[in-house]
Amino acid sequence: MLQNIKDYELDELKSKMTEIGEKTFRAEQIFKWIYSENVDTIDEMTNISIELRNKLKDNFELKRFKIIEKQKSKDGTIKYLFDLLDGNAIETVLMEYKYGKTICVSSQVGCKMGCKFCASTGISYIRNLSSGEILEQILKVEKDENTKISNIVFMGIGEPLDNYDNVIKAVKIINDPKGLNIGARHISISTCGLVPKIYKLAEENLQCTLSVSLHSTNNEKRSELMPVNRTYNIQELIKACKYYINKTKRRISFEYALVKGENDSIENSKELAKLLKGMICHVNLIPVNEIKKDGYKKSTNENIMKFRDDLNSRGIVATIRRELGSDIDAACGQLRRKNLK
Ligand code: SF4
Repeated sequence: MLQNIKDYELDELKSKMTEIGEKTFRAEQIFKWIYSENVDTIDEMTNISIELRNKLKDNFELKRFKIIEKQKSKDGTIKYLFDLLDGNAIETVLMEYKYGKTICVSSQVGCKMGCKFCASTGISYIRNLSSGEILEQILKVEKDENTKISNIVFMGIGEPLDNYDNVIKAVKIINDPKGLNIGARHISISTCGLVPKIYKLAEENLQCTLSVSLHSTNNEKRSELMPVNRTYNIQELIKACKYYINKTKRRISFEYALVKGENDSIENSKELAKLLKGMICHVNLIPVNEIKKDGYKKSTNENIMKFRDDLNSRGIVATIRRELGSDIDAACGQLRRKNLK
């Protein structure tokens, strides 16, 4: 099987060029065709001789996804279901914010984590995405919509830190001025709480935002919502987050999905403020997406606002995430689940 040419960082591609008897500057030319020109085929790399293009085709493939389904919401959110060309499919969402276009990328086909409120939970883990497949989501959407994306969030299907090496490699290419040239501060990596990987990420010296799905301050409840908590409980998670903040000097964003009657009382907001006291952080309150089968209900708007105001009054910066694409199954896993039925 040919290797996806987007799976290489620039230095790796330079080494590959040497291996096939070519000059290293060819790698920079190829990078430009892929990440600046967003070409569909190696044949479009017209400043490269036909002989070399043929050699490249003998050694690499330039993998482009096919669009299985594309849904556009009234608010402009676009959800893609991509065919990975091996019988698997993933989702990618393009959202429009005041500060630019944000893409939510998937990092795995399926997920092992089994969070109760997540629509991907019904889809078992199949495999990791390669770094090239992560990048292709961005390139394909940019090409299809003829647009430039300014922010990337790793919040689609999969636990990004469970596919650590490929995600970090993709982040480096996204960030590379010769790659997609998007600043690290415009990249957000989410995790459900894989503690050892948070320590590892702290050592990477990346300026990305870390977004931690917390959702409860009570170990018993959190374990029920998020089985990962049985391996790494809240205290271990918070300790790792404090280490991360100390090491990177970056603020952590804590995601807290409000589920009616489960974690949305003022008592809960008090506990949350106590847990996060003194940390440089931000709380992102998410009106949970209802998945009928699982029976979790969205908290009322009134409760959500009370929760936010209570956190703010206790010195914890909290905002409510805008619900985008609610008319098009834009929550993680929903479109894919619908198509797989
Ligand atoms: S919320 Fe994220 S980590 Fe949890 S099951 Fe869904 S995709 Fe996996």
